[in-house]
Amino acid sequence: MKGKIVLLSSPHGEFTIEELTVPEPRRGEMLVKQVMCGVCGTDVHMYQGHLPGVKYPIVLGHEPIGTIEKLGEGVEADHSGRPVGEGDLIYVIPGLNCGKCYFCSVLREPTLCLNGTGYGFNPFPENPRSFSGGYAEYIHMNHPWSTFIKLDAKPEAAVLLEPLTVGIHAVDRAGLRPGDTVAIQGCGAIGISALIAAREGGAFKVIVVGAPESRLRFARELGADMTINIEEVGDPDERVRLVKGETTGEYGADAVFECTGVPSAVPEGIRMLRRGGTYAVAGHFTDAGATSLNPYADLNNKHITLVGVWGGDVAHFVRGRPIVESWRYPLERFISHKLPLERCGDAMEAIMGDYRLDGKEVNKMVIVGSP
Ligand SMILES: [Zn+2]
Ligand SMILES: [Zn+2]
Repeated sequence: MKGKIVLLSSPHGEFTIEELTVPEPRRGEMLVKQVMCGVCGTDVHMYQGHLPGVKYPIVLGHEPIGTIEKLGEGVEADHSGRPVGEGDLIYVIPGLNCGKCYFCSVLREPTLCLNGTGYGFNPFPENPRSFSGGYAEYIHMNHPWSTFIKLDAKPEAAVLLEPLTVGIHAVDRAGLRPGDTVAIQGCGAIGISALIAAREGGAFKVIVVGAPESRLRFARELGADMTINIEEVGDPDERVRLVKGETTGEYGADAVFECTGVPSAVPEGIRMLRRGGTYAVAGHFTDAGATSLNPYADLNNKHITLVGVWGGDVAHFVRGRPIVESWRYPLERFISHKLPLERCGDAMEAIMGDYRLDGKEVNKMVIVGSP
């Protein structure tokens, strides 16, 4: 049996489709038939060569869901203990962590693993022509550090679980408490995820600051109490004033989540925060440059907690699953484009360009292995 992979030759290189023999899973392994794979900003960073340490050629795609095509001997349950069988829908958890390094075993921070790699991140650089990423018809889960979870949800909603793990991790890091007022900067996949995680994490009021209007409308449908359109309110001072106006005593938000990837959002977001609040940076997965802070006014005197959020691990996937399975949020409506393997390049161009493709605004795009 043959199956297709999409191989990216080099930064800014060509995406070419290659046909490989589909391997037989060995003991402890699994063969997954890709159902869809989310296209993420990180894929674009890798396409542009902006992610350090990445080896090319590479099969991209770290948000893959699929059905179990063939189970290797000994695989009976997912990593939450749910029994699995052939045909079940699963999320291939992309992150591969060694479990043994200082960060894994002592600090228990698997996303900081010193030996970390992942499906969609070329886990076998010596053999890149393999089913090692989500931009392919199959994913061969043959790395010894693999984890996965079974899902009972619509694929279009389930595929958003990976970005949702970043939102959940951010809420953990911010130590959100019931009754908190939260501001979220950005309404891409991470901003939307932070919104859902904040609501589930006990936020009383959530304000989303971003653009375009269509995404803000979606944010309101998901439960945002107020949205501020940065295309309409161009003045950062005014945006800060509007956010503070919604908070207790107009002191500022209890927590602010940066989900924009834009460095200048950081000082603005800190101004939206009350004294003693928490600022979480969750939108910078590549180096977009520096920004300046005033150590006295923004940090010391303001007495804030400033945290970074690096990805999500298997625990965040397991905790995000019931949210996806609950049907409480119409996540599937965030999918704007379903593209065949041949169109991976078009997806990259749309994100690097004006966020439009086929005459339609881009929200979340997915690559579909076999339409
Ligand atoms: Zn991603
Ligand atoms: Zn490790």
